Amino acid sequence: MPEQRFDLAVVGAGLAGLCAALFAARKGAKVLVAGPNSSLQFASGFLDILAVQPVEQGRVWDHPFEAMAALVKDEPDHPYAKVGEDTVRRAMARLMEFLALSGLEYRSAGDKNQWMPTPAGTVKPTWAVPATMAAGAEAFRDRTPCVVAGIRGLKGFSARQVTENLAPRWPGISHVQAEFPGTAGQSEVFAERIARQLEGEAWRADFARALSPLVQGADCVALPAVLGMNRPGEVAEDLSARLAVPLFEIPTIPPAVPGVRLREAFLQGLSRMGVQTLFKARILPATLDPKQDPVLVAEAGDGPVEIHTKAVVLATGRFLGRGLLAGRKSITETVFGLPVTQPERRDQWHRIDFLDRAGHPVNRAGLETDELLRPLGPGGRPAHPRLFACGTILAHQDWVRQKCGAGLSASTALHAVRSALDAA
Ligand SMILES: Cc1cc2nc3c(=O)[nH]c(=O)nc-3n(C[C@H](O)[C@H](O)[C@H](O)COP(=O)(O)OP(=O)(O)OC[C@H]3O[C@@H](n4cnc5c(N)ncnc54)[C@H](O)[C@@H]3O)c2cc1C
Repeated sequence: MPEQRFDLAVVGAGLAGLCAALFAARKGAKVLVAGPNSSLQFASGFLDILAVQPVEQGRVWDHPFEAMAALVKDEPDHPYAKVGEDTVRRAMARLMEFLALSGLEYRSAGDKNQWMPTPAGTVKPTWAVPATMAAGAEAFRDRTPCVVAGIRGLKGFSARQVTENLAPRWPGISHVQAEFPGTAGQSEVFAERIARQLEGEAWRADFARALSPLVQGADCVALPAVLGMNRPGEVAEDLSARLAVPLFEIPTIPPAVPGVRLREAFLQGLSRMGVQTLFKARILPATLDPKQDPVLVAEAGDGPVEIHTKAVVLATGRFLGRGLLAGRKSITETVFGLPVTQPERRDQWHRIDFLDRAGHPVNRAGLETDELLRPLGPGGRPAHPRLFACGTILAHQDWVRQKCGAGLSASTALHAVRSALDAA
């Protein structure tokens, strides 16, 4: 079997694993990141740090770092208590800097959360958003009269639904339906295809001609997130100039273009930095000998590869990523068979009310770690001195309800990478 050697192997290529690879490469380490990287395309593109705490009370915070101070007092086991505010700030700054260099500019409002329109016609608090969506927060805040323009045949975005649900809180909002050039008579058009087409000037000119009469006189225009794939800032700016009106994007339901943009930005950026990627591979279940350097086997399309590495960062996610598996009786970790903190019995996984504000205990299941983010083995000691974990596989957090997904992933990735490179 062919062998490859690395300073650090990252298992899992969701946001947490990709951030870990990025942060390690910045430090000059020889890095591998392995795993199917499809999970990012489900992301909305928003980068949350923290908005809801405590979830049982549904208290929404304007300031993520004030929320974090409250969180670490109330929940000292939450991963944020291990990484600390400074690491969260650094991780997010590095992530945004990297994305900007890859053509994907993000905007925050300093230390404040921004309220962003969603495809359901709700507004969601989040910390940083793609620059092409940023004007949406200001338009909602100022209740700027706005026309939401849908695209005929585009699934996952209904301008009517967005408008009807927002109207009680946003009186000057209305909607129109445009036809994307060349799609007359088509029952379905695809967001990713439109996004790639709009990178071409001729398509933008045609689309602007189709939209212009519909949005005449509008103070601002909202469009589904289809404005380009690799250069969305340029596409949005050009279309806005052609229509002579400020515009912003609203995400479509997943899988969606903003997630694909993130994925492509990482693909291009990491390969520029010399990170080795095996995006079609899965790491096979393995037993690590604490006295030896870790050895893994990656099963790729063209046969297995043996990976020798000084340290491993495990970033395989929870149930969606399949880092954790929910069996008939218990939850297991799928690569190293690590102990999983979980409710004692299966009937305690979920509360009776599906929409219970407190969430479900199963959504706080995951790996227990020490302060360096080394997962604990059955005896309560680190399973291997150079095995680390980051992202949503960590226990004691409910990232969906707490609205802390990206912040949790990036900051635990940075903390795990620092620990791993020190140890290696
Ligand atoms: C529907 C949706 C909406 C989202 N919306 C937001 C949002 O509004 N704000 C926000 O901040 N974030 C959002 N996110 C992103 C969220 O923050 C990230 O998905 C999450 O933080 C990433 O977690 P992760 O990388 O730990 O796990 P995952 O994204 O689950 O990635 C784990 C990866 O590990 C891989 N893997 C598993 N087992 C193996 C193995 N044996 N070998 C190799 N690879 C393996 C999986 O294939 C997967 O790609 C959203 C995500 C989703 C899915």
